[in-house]
Amino acid sequence: MPETVLLHIDGKEIPAADGGTFEVRSPADGTLLFDVAAATAADVAAAVAGARAAFADQRWRGIRARDRARILNRAAALLGERIDEYARMETLQIGRPLREMRAQLKRLPEWLEYFGAVAQTDEGRVPDFGSGHLNVVRRVPLGVAGLITPWNHPLLITMKKVSAALAAGNSLVIKPSELGPVVPHHLAVLLEEAGVPAGVVNVVPGFGATAGKALSEHRGLAKLDVTGGTETGRVIAANAGRALIPVTAELGGKAPVIVFDDVDVDAAVAGILFAAFIATGQTCVQGARVLVARERYDAVVDALVSRTRALRLGDPLDPQTQIGPLVSQAQRNRVAGAVDRAVTQGATVLCGGRVPAGTSLARGWFYEPTVVADVTPEHDLWHEEVFGPVTTVTAVSSEAEAIGLANDCPYGLAASVWTRDIGRAIRVSEQLDVGIAWINDHHRIDPSSPWGGAKDSGIGSENGLESYRAYTRQQSLVIKSAGEPFDWFATADEIRYS
Ligand code: NDP
Repeated sequence: MPETVLLHIDGKEIPAADGGTFEVRSPADGTLLFDVAAATAADVAAAVAGARAAFADQRWRGIRARDRARILNRAAALLGERIDEYARMETLQIGRPLREMRAQLKRLPEWLEYFGAVAQTDEGRVPDFGSGHLNVVRRVPLGVAGLITPWNHPLLITMKKVSAALAAGNSLVIKPSELGPVVPHHLAVLLEEAGVPAGVVNVVPGFGATAGKALSEHRGLAKLDVTGGTETGRVIAANAGRALIPVTAELGGKAPVIVFDDVDVDAAVAGILFAAFIATGQTCVQGARVLVARERYDAVVDALVSRTRALRLGDPLDPQTQIGPLVSQAQRNRVAGAVDRAVTQGATVLCGGRVPAGTSLARGWFYEPTVVADVTPEHDLWHEEVFGPVTTVTAVSSEAEAIGLANDCPYGLAASVWTRDIGRAIRVSEQLDVGIAWINDHHRIDPSSPWGGAKDSGIGSENGLESYRAYTRQQSLVIKSAGEPFDWFATADEIRYS
């Protein structure tokens, strides 16, 4: 029997208003795992109303930051105890290997701890207003934030947004992806166990076209925060624009991996594999365009192809598995279609490029890790986010060519630069139009380190002080300290009023 997951509104577990549900099935073998309530527009409205009531009566924002932080730390400790349970659930729902999910989830308590600390150390300002007045500028929470999240890191991405938003004192309505709604739902329950009052964190699983749309169009929100595809981001940002509320949008990517001629080939290839194939390539910062110095191209590509062929596909719950299935049939069709189109446009598949043969994998949405050569900026595969285990390799003859090709893309989320020459690493990184540049590494993340992109990769950032501030607005208190009376209409003199 599949487990039933309901909506979480005002601290209560409730079915959808029309009784609608949807299924979550294992992408590895099709097993029915969860039956999830599908929120309607009326459910979303009820969640926003509950969150607004929680904000209005100050049950959370009225708690002193130090005490909010204590509750977030308690939640961090509870989360620490449940990592194995949640990692297994994440693996079941989205098919990412258990080894990856454990490693990722183990770090998530840090987000709650970090933002709790930020809230406690956040201080106001006292600008020089001139004599006679004292001006105190403080940061206050925004209100109700609508969080719309994707399936590829269901808990990590929810946690990045939730921890900053909650630490700042906001109330939340979360619309998780229909493909990975279960652990974000558990997070809401866990936060209440830790002491976050009911009504502050609400979860409305459902479809983008209904629940997501209703949330992003709701005029009761004070902020929208989305992670998803660029087209989804445009729609949600336009809704935020109409409502004149701030938006943070973490969107697609097509990250370049630039490998210079002074690298150790084995270390660089290990880095490329990590960049390209972790999460079966389903990450926004996936190393999707590998640019290799011409002198090292053959050595790097030969080693990359041989190590890619050796990656172990299999049951994501098996600790030996390195590559799981793609999340859905639609996602596999998108990946296979992108590779097939590249071939018709003149590209060469060096390895992979197929649905794997073999009965043990036939019931899942597997696709072989793929390396493609002869792809140029004229090809779709150069520009389009595939969101799968597909990377391209290109020889470059100079730093300038590497930078030009890296930037020749609508996305600007992340890049990595591999070289032993620190001057070159800095020089090149500074010229890349990206929000995150790693040097001799890829994928690294920390709650204190900004995460956000340029160009079509989005607006604003997660993590770090700025993301906390983006969940607040300034409030300026102007307090009269002058002793003399002030009566503008009692005199014709030009007394100072501004
Ligand atoms: P989608 O854009 O399909 O969906 C993201 C979320 O938006 C889901 O909850 C979805 O609902 C919802 N949604 C879809 N359409 C609408 C709409 N019209 N109005 C409101 N909400 C809507 O992205 P994926 O879930 O497929 O995630 C993959 C994408 O996310 C990739 O492009 C990836 O690059 C990006 N991403 C970016 C990251 C970053 O940090 N920049 C990190 C991770 C991923 P539902 O799915 O339930 O239908």
